[in-house]
Parts: sequence; structure tokens; C-alpha cells
Amino acid sequence: MRRSLERSHKHFKKAVGRLPLGVASNFRYWGEDATIYIARGKGARVWDIDGNEYVDYRLGYGPAILGYADPRVEDAARAGMEVGGVFGLATERELAVAERICKMVPSAELVRFSNSGTEAVMAALRLARAYTGKDSYVIVEGGYHGLFDSVLWYTAVEDWAEGGGEPELVPYGEGVPMLLKQLVHQVPLNDANKLEDSLKKHGDDIGAFLIEPIMGNCCGITADAQYVKDVRALCDKYGVVMIVDEVKTGFRVARGGVQELMGVEADLCTFAKALANGYPISVLAGREDIMRKIGDGVAHGGTYTAHSVSLAAAEKTLEILDETSALDDIAAYGRAMQSGMSEILDRHDIPHSFVGHPSMGGLFFSETPPSNYRDWKDSDYTFYDTLAPVMHDLGVLCEPDSREPWFVSAAHDEACLAQTLEAFETAVAETAETLGAGNRERIQAAGAC
Ligand code: PMP
Repeated sequence: MRRSLERSHKHFKKAVGRLPLGVASNFRYWGEDATIYIARGKGARVWDIDGNEYVDYRLGYGPAILGYADPRVEDAARAGMEVGGVFGLATERELAVAERICKMVPSAELVRFSNSGTEAVMAALRLARAYTGKDSYVIVEGGYHGLFDSVLWYTAVEDWAEGGGEPELVPYGEGVPMLLKQLVHQVPLNDANKLEDSLKKHGDDIGAFLIEPIMGNCCGITADAQYVKDVRALCDKYGVVMIVDEVKTGFRVARGGVQELMGVEADLCTFAKALANGYPISVLAGREDIMRKIGDGVAHGGTYTAHSVSLAAAEKTLEILDETSALDDIAAYGRAMQSGMSEILDRHDIPHSFVGHPSMGGLFFSETPPSNYRDWKDSDYTFYDTLAPVMHDLGVLCEPDSREPWFVSAAHDEACLAQTLEAFETAVAETAETLGAGNRERIQAAGAC
């Protein structure tokens, strides 16, 4: 271990006495010896409480798209603070932010605010059910849509053998009512026939299809643009509301999100993360006739919605993303990083591929990337799992779980890139040595991806 985590370790021991796992979100627990506590972040860098500095590719799971504590957003947030918070009444700025969103995202005809991605997706699902009068819904295997019971289901592909029927649907954890299972159907990404089969079979009960076309919680596995168009047509054919969850992709992969990239318009879509550079705010947007059900039978709202600080931060963040070259610069950095990494891996003769978008790319140790979650389970992630902690030791913070993409911000600069590639060079060499000569064979034996 090249860095000291002494203070983080000490703090963990105290924190665990008061906070389950010693943290405020299960995902922040990286194990007793690896959980770190952050002192502050600025630009593309964060510092832990031991004083270790990292170039950060997690960005809080995506939000800090302009970099931590961007001065333009911070000034706007401070002005938002002067407004006074929440009043149980509306403010004028809500319309200004809604207008900007509708300008950037063609499918967004009307907009409502919430506080988190989870809340926005919950609202979308409720609205779709109300609009169609149907309670069941289809989600995509390997997807993640937040911490609420209706979507806390996953396909157990780990021990599943192809040809042995469909993989089982299981709750993410305890406390999720089994009663809900009868409402959830799952399909693999990139297989429109499977979706049609499901709609044919259960169509009378299905009100919504929920999809994240670049799977931001599954290494960035990406839907083919044609598949997304087929999905659009199927939703129309079977009268199902198509919800595109853009909580991670929104205002990141393009001004109009993944919908713009893939040339498709959702019926409803959800945004959060990049919307306000890290301030808690989210959006449910979509087709006017569906959105008008809000207030005409469908409940939506909340004490903290459109808080003046978050709203002011969103207004400024969106202005920057819309009116500057920030998103192009982020994608260019991502491409340069991926090509530098490729060069290093090629030199070591290590099969690899990238998926997703350069601004949120997944790194695979296989020649062909997976096209759905079923493929992912056959991929070899030992190399990634071994590499990531070495990168941390060398001052580059990527997610230890290979299912999380590498997020890039507008604050990642030439110095970050050089530092990242230098660390990557060392980490790849060390990992290859640790795993030994059989590495290439193991990756190839792992299958198509
Ligand atoms: N949808 C997607 C696609 C997400 O990635 C996330 C969070 N990672 C959520 C919903 C839930 O958002 P939040 O954590 O803000 O509740």
C-alpha cells in the first residue's frame, strides 16, 4: 500500500458504532480496510482525511459534471440561498429551469421537479400506471433505477445456465415485499423479440417499459440505436408508456441526453445527477397529455421539491452545459483517456474493449463488450477487480466495482490525463504480474465478452 489510510481506518472504527457500515449509503462502504472518508473536492480532484489526493472518475456517481465546487455554480447556489429555501409555494425560477430543459430535451414538453433520481423514477412509474390504468411494468435485466421497492428486483444470472429457462427474478435485498413480484417483468437488453413476447403475454396488464439505454450501473452496456427504435415502436403498438431513465446519461452524453444520441423520444424521462452539478434535484419530464395527469388524479410533490439552492444551481449548470463546449470537451477527454489506456493494454497484449459513452465509459477485459447483463456474467472482471485498488493507491479514484463507468467532468485537464495514464501504466503492469501468465487465456476462456 503506497498511501496511508490511517485516519480513515480510525474514523471508520468510530463511525461504525453510530452509522450502519460506517457510512451514509451502502455503496460507500468499500470494506473495513478500504473505506475512505473525504475531506473535500475541487475540480476533478478529491482529498481524503489522510491528505491523499486523487484524480476522481466517480464524481459522486456522476453529478459533478463541471467538477467539484465549480465557482459559477457555487455563486449561483449562494444566490439561491439568499432566496430562503422552501416555502410550500412556488417560485418563478421553476419556469426558467423547465424552459431550459424543454429546449434541450425534445421529448420534454412538461416538467416536474423532485429531489433524487429515485423519486423521479417513482413518480414516472406512478404516472405511467395512472395514464394506462395498468399496474405491471417491464424493466431491463441488470438495470438500476433507485432504491424503491418496485424496481429493487434483479435477474439472478450469476448461477444461471443458458438454455435452462429464464433466469429468476429476485429482490435486491430483504424488506422488499414479495407481493410486488407479480407486477415486475424483466427482459434482456438488445432483444426486441423478447420484449414483444413479454408484451404479447402480459400486455393487458403492462403500463410501462423502463429502460436506461446506456446502462450506467452495468458498466455502460449500451443498447443499439435500432433496438431503442424497435422498443419505441413496440411501446406504441401495445399502448405502453416508454420511460427512459436518464438519471446518469441526462445532460451528460449529449445536451438532449441518450434520447438525442439514439434519435428516440420517450413518453416520460427522468433526470438527476448532472442536472445541478451535485445539488439534490431531479426531474420528471415528458409528453404533455401524460404529464397533465399530474394534478388531474395523480399525486406529485414534496416539501423540498425545487429548493431554492438546488434550483439556482440547476439553472446555472444547465446554462453552462447548453451554451458552452463543456460536453464536447468532456467527450474529447474521455476519448483521449480511452485511447491512452488502449495503447498501454495493447502493449501488454491484454484483450479489452470500452462500452458506453466516452463521458461515462465502461472498461472491459474482453475483445467484444457484452451487449446485455447475461453476457456480463460470463465476462472476466478479475483483471479490473485487481487493477482498481492499485489505481487508488496511485492516486486515481475509479469505482472498485467494474459495473460502474468512469465518469469524466469538464474539470479533468491535461495534468489529470497524464497522471491517470502514468498510474494506469504502472497498475496494468503490476496487475498482469500479480495475475500471471495465464491472464490472456483466462480472459479468452471467459467467453464472448
Ligand atoms: N436511476 C439511475 C439510472 C441511477 O443511476 C440512479 C442512481 N445511481 C437512480 C435512478 C437513483 O438515483 P438517486 O440515487 O439519486 O436516488
